[in-house]
Amino acid sequence: MLASPTLEEDLRQADELRGRIDLVELRADHLRDSEAAAASSFPARVGIPCILTVRRRSDGGSFAGAERDRVALLRKLAGAGFAYVDLEEDLQAPELDAAVRKAGARVVRSLHDFAGVPSGLSRRIAALARGPGEIARAAVTPRTCAQLAVLLDACRDAGALPRVILGMGEVGFPTRVLASKLGSAWCYASPTAEAAAPGQVTPPALDEVYRFRAIGPQTRVFGVIGNPVMHSRSPLIHNRGFAALGIDAVYLPFHVPDLQEFWKVADSLGIRGLSVTVPHKTAVLEFGVEGDADVRAIGACNTLTRASASGRWIGANTDMEGFLAPLRHALGGKIPPGLRATVIGAGGAARSVVAALASVEARVLVLNRTLDRARRLAERFHADFAGLDPAGARAAEHTDLVVQTTSAGMAPQQGVDPAPGLQFTGREIVYELVYAPARTPIVQRASAAGCRIIPGWQMLLAQARRQFLLFTGAEYPSEVMEALSGQLD
Ligand code: NAP
Repeated sequence: MLASPTLEEDLRQADELRGRIDLVELRADHLRDSEAAAASSFPARVGIPCILTVRRRSDGGSFAGAERDRVALLRKLAGAGFAYVDLEEDLQAPELDAAVRKAGARVVRSLHDFAGVPSGLSRRIAALARGPGEIARAAVTPRTCAQLAVLLDACRDAGALPRVILGMGEVGFPTRVLASKLGSAWCYASPTAEAAAPGQVTPPALDEVYRFRAIGPQTRVFGVIGNPVMHSRSPLIHNRGFAALGIDAVYLPFHVPDLQEFWKVADSLGIRGLSVTVPHKTAVLEFGVEGDADVRAIGACNTLTRASASGRWIGANTDMEGFLAPLRHALGGKIPPGLRATVIGAGGAARSVVAALASVEARVLVLNRTLDRARRLAERFHADFAGLDPAGARAAEHTDLVVQTTSAGMAPQQGVDPAPGLQFTGREIVYELVYAPARTPIVQRASAAGCRIIPGWQMLLAQARRQFLLFTGAEYPSEVMEALSGQLD
């Protein structure tokens, strides 16, 4: 989608993306008036098939003039060599339709909903195309998984209808990447990350993170469910692994505000495996998941695979071993029994960490903002506990290892230090589970004090390696893992 104020800038952006894009959309509503008048030269100059769109403000566009001026502009430009002209569902202009057809272009008949998913969506999509060769386009805004499931039903109901059906916003994101699996003729992307609408990505990200061009109707879908989740690096990790091994699969972030409705989405897409992240690691267990021994011991699950025979979800926890592997490495191959460890936080990740530390006979102190939660976790694993207050900070003195497991420090809590009262001597190993951003406040303080840091991406990669094996039955390619370590460090 090219939406600059000048044609030159649009051409420059298209040039930069040449080879990564098959189609450009010229958003002529964003052009300055003088530029819009000159836009008939654009298709020939850009040399890539082109969609012409002049969007009204009421449909999220920038065209502020009268409707008759908009129709006149569309009519003037329609014959300039555009491959497609986007006209809204409610636009009644038969002479414009005829002019588009006469020019050899195809009408994209579009409907929008920026607030939600309208009722009767499948019926409305089926009624969109008015003439031969028209493409139905629906851009709606699912805010819940229940609405995403409706959108996926609409994709199925559209059958062989030429269409583009997409969900705007974070919940709708999978419909963009899965365009070719869901039967959409194309996927809209933003030329730059800064200009991207929520849920939109750039063509390089589509290629490099989501292997967009390798996705087809048979591609198996995996993903991570969480809230927030769009920052997750797991898609990069798993998709690189699929690509290296030639596995026809894709891994996506699923923004899940309503877990109980997500299973409809999973059924609709035939999802076979999922990573589970904050805040769903314990909540997923309420949905009939059959947890393995680690899940039962920890009470939290970060991996789901679906049994093909029964259709049941099987829960595993790769966080525990994923946490221990980098620690073992940092300690020269063996974790000494009696290691004194302070764990900040008592959520799903902390459970895996405390269980893992208990399994290697560490002496664990749990510090949490909500004291009762610290107590319950500590009691389960025979650990000590305290609050995130001066008494907790005193109890944490003489610690060998500090593990930061809270979600403070990552979006939307960037810059938040969960334990400002905890001072470092420089002798502690500080293990930060948050991996985006890499330098959280606690990492900055610990580095300044001279502590050794184990960054969160090391655990992320170690646990992902085990997930990949559960998802695919194949070992994660070690050369890809090494390259990713270099990239994430
Ligand atoms: P969770 O179950 O929601 O637990 C969140 C924890 O953070 C709770 O203990 C909560 O305390 C605490 N917390 C949140 N905001 C806080 C603040 N401002 N000050 C103090 N404490 C605060 O989340 P989770 O599943 O444990 O995940 C936590 C983090 O670990 C996430 O950032 C996740 O990305 C990261 N993680 C990383 C890896 C990895 O591989 N690197 C693996 C797993 C998790 P209360 O109990 O008082 O609410």
